[in-house]
Amino acid sequence: MNVNRIFCIGRNYAKHIAELGNSPDDGCVIFMKPASCVVEEGEAVVLPKNIGSVHHEAELVVLLTGGGSDIPVEDAMSWVAGITLGLDLTARDLQNKLKEKGQPWELAKAFDGAAPLGDFKPYLEQDLQSLEFTLHVNGELRQHAQTRDMIYTVARQIHILSQTWALLPGDVIYTGTPEGVAALKPGDRAVLEGPGLGRYEWVFE
Ligand code: ZN
Repeated sequence: MNVNRIFCIGRNYAKHIAELGNSPDDGCVIFMKPASCVVEEGEAVVLPKNIGSVHHEAELVVLLTGGGSDIPVEDAMSWVAGITLGLDLTARDLQNKLKEKGQPWELAKAFDGAAPLGDFKPYLEQDLQSLEFTLHVNGELRQHAQTRDMIYTVARQIHILSQTWALLPGDVIYTGTPEGVAALKPGDRAVLEGPGLGRYEWVFE
């Protein structure tokens, strides 16, 4: 299935909220990336130049078959078709400047190449809140997620998004990142993997 819209949930793991100096009391943040940001597994990711640091955010990503508006939490998982892993690439220095000015985040989150995305595996009704995944960069462990640590479960995220958007087939959700975000540089090789989620590799230019 082709990717339709990319929704992203920010501030969904307590330790990541703390590492960026944000408050858990503010709730989650929702933003979008255009589908043209996707970089499939094995393709080179060209890091944007001259905008400061670009951080990796390793995330569980879910693919929806639709669902429409006002989806109850109890029904939300019936709209999940696939699961995979992805990187929510973030121009952190620029994002911090935009935050200070109270401006939107698109320049820091929605640049070309900002959404490396693995292949979707069929969702087999496994518990998405008991998954585990890791991100290694150049062989070094950078991020290790336990999805039980999510503040907003995948079902709740679908419910929340459906209150603003009628969810459509091909919509995907980047479900937030755990702690350990850090800068990438040209020449880095990232490996994102988890049991039942696959193993995906990108090289950065
Ligand atoms: Zn993120």
